[in-house]
Amino acid sequence: MAYEYYEVLGISRTASDEEIKKAYRKRAMECHPDRHGGDTEKEREFKQINEAYATLSDPAKRRRYDRHGTPPDAASAGAGGFHADFDFSDIFDSFFGWGFSRWGSRSQTRGGDREVHTRISFTQSISGVSQTISYRRKVVCKACDGTGAKNWEMHTCPECHGAGWVRRRMQSIFGVVDRVVECPRCHGAGKIPKEVCDACQGQGVQDENAQKSVDIPAGIDTGMSMKISGEGDQMPGWRPGDLYVHVDVESPPDGMRRDDVNLRYTLALDPVELVLGVEKTVKIPVIGERTIDIGAGTPIGKVLRFIGDGVPHIGYDRRGDLFVEISVKIPAKLSKKERELYESLAKEWKIPVRKPGMFSQLFEA
Ligand SMILES: [Zn+2]
Ligand SMILES: [Zn+2]
Repeated sequence: MAYEYYEVLGISRTASDEEIKKAYRKRAMECHPDRHGGDTEKEREFKQINEAYATLSDPAKRRRYDRHGTPPDAASAGAGGFHADFDFSDIFDSFFGWGFSRWGSRSQTRGGDREVHTRISFTQSISGVSQTISYRRKVVCKACDGTGAKNWEMHTCPECHGAGWVRRRMQSIFGVVDRVVECPRCHGAGKIPKEVCDACQGQGVQDENAQKSVDIPAGIDTGMSMKISGEGDQMPGWRPGDLYVHVDVESPPDGMRRDDVNLRYTLALDPVELVLGVEKTVKIPVIGERTIDIGAGTPIGKVLRFIGDGVPHIGYDRRGDLFVEISVKIPAKLSKKERELYESLAKEWKIPVRKPGMFSQLFEA
């Protein structure tokens, strides 16, 4: 059944946050089930008020509601239902002072997440690698199966006599009300350990040094993380948390850098190779041998492209490209024969080259 949030709270569409809060308090008091025991119409209205407040008190959700008319998850919540991401206990904690207990709270139904950092080489980031990750986590105590009881021996909780709940008389803004709350002694179980388990001191969980083999996909980069579902903390009766593996990739080899899914590599050739042209096989780090074909008179900075020799796209059977930028490698030392050849070229071109040793004399002076 459709209903309009602003109407439900009795406010205008331009109401301020303060007005929304005030209207909610007023309407919630009017319709609170504690004042209308068993009145299903009032109960339905109360749910609508809460749902309206959950949306309108959140600026982002309110904007979306104003634009589209329906809350983003209205379809799944159903008419009069609560939104999955709305923590009902928040409002009650702040408005009425009724806390939901640690064990009964809606937000605590799964174990904690664990995070671990791992470092891989640049080559491994391109090829992918399988790694064993070590980390600490909580697991259900094996000695007591999470019951916290020595030899699994439990007896009836003396606080609630096995019911799991107790009645509490509370002062609220509606006056004195009787509330049924989860038993604080047994957290709703109705039973407590006769003697606490020695292995876990009654906690039901133990610390474990866990080891997990993780396939790090080809193409991963520094700052990326992998989520391994269900490998975080285990708690008795809860869904396990998740494990997050954060990956650090070491620096690439000299002359190489990663540019998104492409690789860029600077290849230094001899001046003669650029002047006369050359076809030869060169070793590109990480990638392997490739044949390059350089024409005569190739300038420094020319870029060769090798399609599909770059970084793998994670999750796709595709790779980026490899770009090889040509640079020049000046020989630091010449043999006597080589010097004579360069000098005859200089003579041909009438270039007034320095005499051997003159360069260093200038600098040593
Ligand atoms: Zn109890
Ligand atoms: Zn135990």
